[in-house]
Amino acid sequence: MNFEQRIPREASARLFEEAQEYFPGGVNSPVRAFRSVSGPPLFIREGHGSHMIDEDGNRLLDFCCSWGPLIHGHDNPHIRERVIETVLRGTSFGTPNRLGNQLGKLILDNHRYVERIRFVSSGTEAVMSALRLARGYTGRNKIIKFDGCYHGHVDSLLVKAGSGLATLGTSSSAGVPETVARDTLVLPLGDRDLLERTLSEHSGEVACIIVEPIPANNGLLIQDRSWLECLRIKAWKHDVLLIFDEVISGFRVGFEGAAGLYDVAPDIITFGKVIGGGFPVGAYGASKEIMDYIAPVGPVYQAGTLSANPVAMAAGLAALEQCLAPGFYVEMAARTHRMATAIEAYARERNYPVHVPHVGSIFWLAFGTERIERADQIDAANMQYFKIIHHELLQTGVYLGPSGYEVGFVSSAHSETDLQEGVAKICAAMDVAFGE
Ligand code: PMP
Repeated sequence: MNFEQRIPREASARLFEEAQEYFPGGVNSPVRAFRSVSGPPLFIREGHGSHMIDEDGNRLLDFCCSWGPLIHGHDNPHIRERVIETVLRGTSFGTPNRLGNQLGKLILDNHRYVERIRFVSSGTEAVMSALRLARGYTGRNKIIKFDGCYHGHVDSLLVKAGSGLATLGTSSSAGVPETVARDTLVLPLGDRDLLERTLSEHSGEVACIIVEPIPANNGLLIQDRSWLECLRIKAWKHDVLLIFDEVISGFRVGFEGAAGLYDVAPDIITFGKVIGGGFPVGAYGASKEIMDYIAPVGPVYQAGTLSANPVAMAAGLAALEQCLAPGFYVEMAARTHRMATAIEAYARERNYPVHVPHVGSIFWLAFGTERIERADQIDAANMQYFKIIHHELLQTGVYLGPSGYEVGFVSSAHSETDLQEGVAKICAAMDVAFGE
């Protein structure tokens, strides 16, 4: 395949070359380096609504949406106004502030599964803090996670399944001590017997089960409700806490996230992305009883200089208020469904091995025709198709995250016309990847 560039990319290429002098690999987060797709990463200059413009002036219909936070698209007027209004009064005080209260209230008033919340500054920080809380609350060290779920770059979660049948984890990043990794038990998604056996074998040692209820970092591995219910029941049975990592799904598939969508109540929920309206915000929440284990009330320490930063709180508030508009999530899901099924229908007619799993306003271009529910069902060899599709889409002005394992997001700024354009261009890109 010839990945000929038909759009100007010189300015991005120059900036990327310069960036190599400053940052490892030229980036501040690895996947941004475009290592598994063609050409240099695009340096984005600005974004408005459903589109971004790069430093070469290319205009791109954006289905990455900053990896999920931008549920209202770029430069949303309500968020912009609130942020500017707030910035004019100072940007950080390191004290409690009214906007933090307002965002806290808005969330607790509209989310049945959270009684108390603590704001932090990223999804990783939320997960790290939630794990410490689970360990502090239960007085136990081991945690159970699932292959195919990503939870940020927390030491004890940068862990993959050990060899053979052993569920004891081994670190998946240099710098994570094996002593830390060994406290993480890694299981395949959906294996109820193994979960039961693991909980029994490690009875009295496990603090929590952590899961992405809608795994969306390794493809979109949509789970059956009955599996999530099984996790709930087993956690109760073995007296361990259940953590839903809703950094992606929270406020994305519904205001109450996956917990609300499936009506399964976790003990602790972690948030990120949408909650900050495009600013660095994470959070974790639980019942009052569990959250009272956090300092200054309880013995589990957790703090942050920029936690509940007023500008970020203003952005989060403006974002979540718009999510509460009647019918918001129904409409987002309906549009995404129309787009996904149109792509699927086109692929089916031509026998292209593509299907488009989707939930709420999250979608994924999946290769093969079978439903994919576990990480080991993804064939890495198919990522060559993604590379072609990604390249073709950039040439025609559509931006997907630069990896076939990443999901896409639809925002409320995507008009029906945008979505039709997306469908047409994705179909044309599939013709290049799969056509005769
Ligand atoms: N958990 C999940 C489910 C995520 O999707 C992510 C980010 N992709 C994280 C945690 C980490 O969040 P952040 O990148 O904000 O640290």
